[in-house]
Order: sequence, then C-alpha cells, then structure tokens
Amino acid sequence: MQAYSSLALATEVLDILPNPVLVKNEQLEYVWVNAAFEKLFNVSRDGVIGKLDAQLFPDRQVSQCNGGDLRVLKDGEVDEAVETVFETSGAERETITRKSRLELDTGEIYLVGVMHDITDITHANAALKASESKLQEQAQKLSVLATTDMLTECRNRRALMEVAEQTVENQFSSVALLLMDLDKFKHINDRFGHDAGDAALQHFSTEIKSQLRSPENLFRLGGEEFVVLLDADSADEALAKADELRAHIENSAFFHDMQHIPFTISVGLVFKKKGVRSNTNDILSKADECLYQAKNEGRNRVKLAA
Ligand code: GH3
Ligand code: MG
Ligand code: MG
Repeated sequence: MQAYSSLALATEVLDILPNPVLVKNEQLEYVWVNAAFEKLFNVSRDGVIGKLDAQLFPDRQVSQCNGGDLRVLKDGEVDEAVETVFETSGAERETITRKSRLELDTGEIYLVGVMHDITDITHANAALKASESKLQEQAQKLSVLATTDMLTECRNRRALMEVAEQTVENQFSSVALLLMDLDKFKHINDRFGHDAGDAALQHFSTEIKSQLRSPENLFRLGGEEFVVLLDADSADEALAKADELRAHIENSAFFHDMQHIPFTISVGLVFKKKGVRSNTNDILSKADECLYQAKNEGRNRVKLAA
C-alpha cells in the first residue's frame, strides 16, 4: 500500500511538471510519458506505450533522436541536444532534451528524457538579434549623418578633428593641411543668387575630389571654407600639390543656368614633418593666418606657413 501510494504520488508529480517527460526501454519503445508530453504531441499515454519513435513521429524528427538514445543506453552518458520537434499541427518547436540512463536494482535499463521547450526563447533571441543589427545599422547611418555635410557630401569639421587625431597629432607620418577658401564668394551669391552659390560649392568639391587619391580627405569646415589633408614628404611637394589644386579650380568651367561663373580659391598651407607631433587647432590657426595673407596679396594663390 505504501509502495503503491508513493508510485501514484510520483506519477501525479510528473504529470504536474510543465516539461514533457518520456521513458523508453532498451529497445527504444516508450514505456511511459507524462501529461505534458501527451499535450505537446497530442497523443495519449496508452497510445504511445510499446511504440517506437518511427511509429509515432515524422522521419525528420526521428532522425535527430535515435543516435543519441543509443549512446545514452550503451555508455550511460547524459545526452543534451537541441531538437526540432513537430506538433500534430505541423508547427515546429525547438527543444533541449536531456536524456539519461536509469538502471534499476532489478537490472532493467531505461532511458529517461526531460524536454525543455525553448521555442519562445529562440524566437525572442532571433528578434533581439534582428533588432540589434538594425540598431547597429542605424547607429552607422547616424554617425555618417553626423560627420557629413549634406550640400557637398564632404565630411565635416567633426570628422576632420577625428581624422586629424591620427595624422596631424601623431609623429609617425608627415602631412600637409590645406585650408581653402573661395575668393569673393559673396559676390557669386549676390550677383547670381544663393542657388548659384550652392552649386559653386558643389562644383568646387566635386572638382577637388576628382584630383585627390583619397577623396574622403576633403572636409567642409563651414561656409565656403574647406580643408584637404594630403600625404606629402616635403613642404615643396605639398606646395606643388596645393598649387595644382588651386590651378585646377581656376581652370575648371563652372556653369549655372547656362551662365559661365569663373571663380578661384586661396589656400593657406601648413606642412607637418614626420617625427613631429602637432595640435590640430594650432595647425588650423596657422593655416588661417596664411590664408589671410594669400587674400591680402591678391587671392588665387597658395601661401605656405614658415
Ligand atoms: P573672400 O575672397 O575674402 O573670401 O570673400 P568672400 O566673399 O568669399 O568672403 P565672405 O566671408 O565675406 O563671404 C562668404 C559668404 O559665403 C557669406 C555667406 O553668405 C556665404 N555662404 C556661407 N555658406 C553658404 C552656403 O552654404 N551656400 C551659399 N550659397 N552661400 C554660403
Ligand atoms: Mg571667401
Ligand atoms: Mg570665408
């Protein structure tokens, strides 16, 4: 009586568990399943007892389980594997099934499996991953927006400061910083309109980029002021390249509304030697002094810092 009630109690307890539980004999026939198992697969306990997986479930499900079952029975090792099982409706469920060997005093050997339904967690994880990668994509877009000038599609002052940190402010490379300013730009706006001014800025940046090995090294500081960072091994080389850019703008034909609108630029140039570490703001203000001199001396010229 005592033994019977313990068994009945154990059965009741196993039937309350939300996890499907199964017991198989050495021939891999079901000998017992709990209520959660019956519910998941819409089967009855009596209907599965004595049956093999192959008699109850689709092939795609059976093929995942049986290798593990035999290993558990033979070696006694605990097997824990993710399995895709199918409800009677055909809906897939992801489970982790933990299988272990149970050896009774009588010498009988059974396989006991406890299933954990992880479908919802798997779906939640997939959704989380998808939203994470969307967030990363949006952060990337935001970062591009925050460092790009919309009119000319050049990078902006914020981007220049970031890039300069790795070039101007380290001693491992020489670099030339060119501060460029359109000459008499106000005149273009006043005479041909603001749209013409905008188009002139776009023309200028397209033309300069076309002359640079790394077009992303043209930055718009604001208004009609731009910076180019150039690789150069000497001040002379930097001066020659800067003058080529100046001449390229002078000789490029800018048309707006069928009107030819010639314009030029002035450039303040600072060359930083390899082995020297500098400060970006110091170099920018040096370049600004040179630009001021270039304007004073008649514009359409490059002035190199001493
Ligand atoms: P300088 O040769 O001495 O440089 O003369 P400037 O006329 O080019 O210089 P100034 O600084 O007096 O004028 C710059 C003008 O640029 C004033 C401003 O209205 C105009 N400007 C600034 N940003 C933009 C823009 O995005 N689009 C247009 N169309 N004009 C702009
Ligand atoms: Mg100007
Ligand atoms: Mg200006």
